[in-house]
Amino acid sequence: MPDIPAEAEDSSDQRTTTEILLLDGRNTIIGRLRYRTCRRCRTGRILDVWVLDAWQRQGLGSDLVRVLLTRCPGVRWTTTVQTRTGRLFFTAMTEETSVSFPQREPPCAHLAGRFIRGWRRAISWWRLR
Ligand SMILES: [Zn+2]
Repeated sequence: MPDIPAEAEDSSDQRTTTEILLLDGRNTIIGRLRYRTCRRCRTGRILDVWVLDAWQRQGLGSDLVRVLLTRCPGVRWTTTVQTRTGRLFFTAMTEETSVSFPQREPPCAHLAGRFIRGWRRAISWWRLR
């Protein structure tokens, strides 16, 4: 589990997509998790988890999800519809963390809104040592 910078406290709302980025030693983005949360309903939606090919199968996707759970405790999560690989990933994450990540459950009305006004990039990141 990487250290999370203090400023990484969650300040997003349902109109903003937030990214958690994972950088290698040369500041290349090698992993990314995008999500939105609704503070009112304490719900969140994971839009995608991506890890660069060369860095896959090293548990980095799992690390990204763990950073997310630390940043947003007590949130009930859903995910967008996943590929087979994505489903296997989230099933494994549920076994690991006891948090469920259903993909068929619709998000709350606020998160389901059609207009996303904000896009926040790299408000949180951590680096491989
Ligand atoms: Zn809501």
